[in-house]
Amino acid sequence: MATARDSGDGEAREPEPIAGQLGGFLERASLPCLVIDPEAFSIAGANGRALAWLGAPRDGIEGQPVTALFPNITEPVWRRLARPLLSGLRPSVRIQTEQLQEDAGSRLVEIELELFDDPDRPLLLARLSGATRQTASAEALGQSEALLRSIIDTAPDAIITIDASGTIESFSPAAEKIFGYAAEEVIGRDVSMLMPTPHKVRHGGYIERYLKTGEKHVIGIGRETTGLRKNGERFAIELAVGELIQGGRHFFTGFIRDIGDRVAAERRATELQREITHVARLSAVGEMSTTIAHELNQPLAAIANYSLAAKNQLAGQPPDIAKAVGFMEEAGEQSRRAGEIIRRLRSFARHGETERRPVDINDIVREAAQLSLIGASAAGVRTAFELAEPLPSVLADGIQIQQVVVNLVRNALDAMVSDEKLSRREIDFETAYGTQPTNLRVAAALHGEDYVAVAVHDSGPGIDQSIADKLFEPFVTTKQSGLGIGLSVCKSIVEAHDGRLWVETNDMGGTTFYFTLPIHREDDRW
Ligand code: ADP
Repeated sequence: MATARDSGDGEAREPEPIAGQLGGFLERASLPCLVIDPEAFSIAGANGRALAWLGAPRDGIEGQPVTALFPNITEPVWRRLARPLLSGLRPSVRIQTEQLQEDAGSRLVEIELELFDDPDRPLLLARLSGATRQTASAEALGQSEALLRSIIDTAPDAIITIDASGTIESFSPAAEKIFGYAAEEVIGRDVSMLMPTPHKVRHGGYIERYLKTGEKHVIGIGRETTGLRKNGERFAIELAVGELIQGGRHFFTGFIRDIGDRVAAERRATELQREITHVARLSAVGEMSTTIAHELNQPLAAIANYSLAAKNQLAGQPPDIAKAVGFMEEAGEQSRRAGEIIRRLRSFARHGETERRPVDINDIVREAAQLSLIGASAAGVRTAFELAEPLPSVLADGIQIQQVVVNLVRNALDAMVSDEKLSRREIDFETAYGTQPTNLRVAAALHGEDYVAVAVHDSGPGIDQSIADKLFEPFVTTKQSGLGIGLSVCKSIVEAHDGRLWVETNDMGGTTFYFTLPIHREDDRW
């Protein structure tokens, strides 16, 4: 393969002899001068004064990396120094540093760096002069400046300085990486270019208002907002702003962290949680399907009977229209009953958006219990409700809280039905209709000043010891066809609502599951 040199296309990267290009200029220069190749950061040439000053032969210096002469300035720092010169943003930069001497000692030199507009390729010209040691405090200042520079250069968060008019003064390497702009593309421009609308439009107003009123909205306080990359992509950022007054001028320093990944991961986790919750709901519906089919059979059979009876009345001699109408009304009533079961099931199984609004917990408990108690009385389970009225509303996703109640009530039924060997424990319980033997109680009441609590008491055999300490973990089950996700989903739903779910043994010898939800107050922000 031909090298760039062989191809003769004029793009060879070998340092060219300076004589033909800068030569005259260099030899006329009154100061020691070096020529630096801004791509490799190697010495491309030196004038006689520089060679004498450095005490080095020409062939010993050309092609050497600059870091060999000035060990305290690393190549990335050279690149940063050169960038504003190459882009024409600044005419020159001045730095002081140590220069290694032949005898392994060092001296302080001042380097003034500028661009030499060579027609073939850009080169950097470095004028060297001896610098006197600064006073201790000036040197300390220089050191702390260098320290600050290295912090800014290596900080993983973007650091951007703007003046009071919103003009960008500095843009750190991390800012370049995060926003996709090179520093010279943004320095001198308005900071609003890094923000999507509407922040873009408002930003000028923010600074102006702060300077006028001293009202702090972001300054000194971190907050999450949105940034705009060069490629037009918006992304979530965490922004903290510091303020600095220097020589009577205001500057603001923004520290910006790209939290796009974190926000996306949180969003994915929420979606996943919603999927799991929905799957668990569908599995509950699946488990209930046999009993529900059985329950639907009753109104369907009744409709068939009433229709037949109505037909017989109409076929009679003479037809008894009034009786036929009565039977048709009964059939209509039964079909409404069947429709109601289907409606409950459909609304429960639906894939709802997580939506929280103030709801009446008693309504939720009643609706969920109607669904989960289908077939319970046929299995000999006697249920009582203890719903304190009225209860303050809670801020909740109604379908998800129904799901918690359905799971707890279904578990209670499963526990009691599987417990046939034991005589079903019943205790007398005061209901609206007098004292009745009961073995399943569903209650809702105030819990302290800030919560309502729902309790599901059963008279089953209690929690199996083998799973007691991991009851709320997923895939823990003692049932043959159980998935073991019901309680773990209940716990995450309740905790996502800022409530708590726990289990106790009760006076029926069975199990009580409790969960709490915070009361919704009008002034709650959500
Ligand atoms: P699954 O019902 O699919 O097993 P859950 O997470 O809802 O999943 O329940 C996990 C286990 O907790 C059940 O298998 C059962 O052993 C136990 N359990 C739950 N509720 C009760 C209860 N009321 N009484 C006794 N054991 C219970």
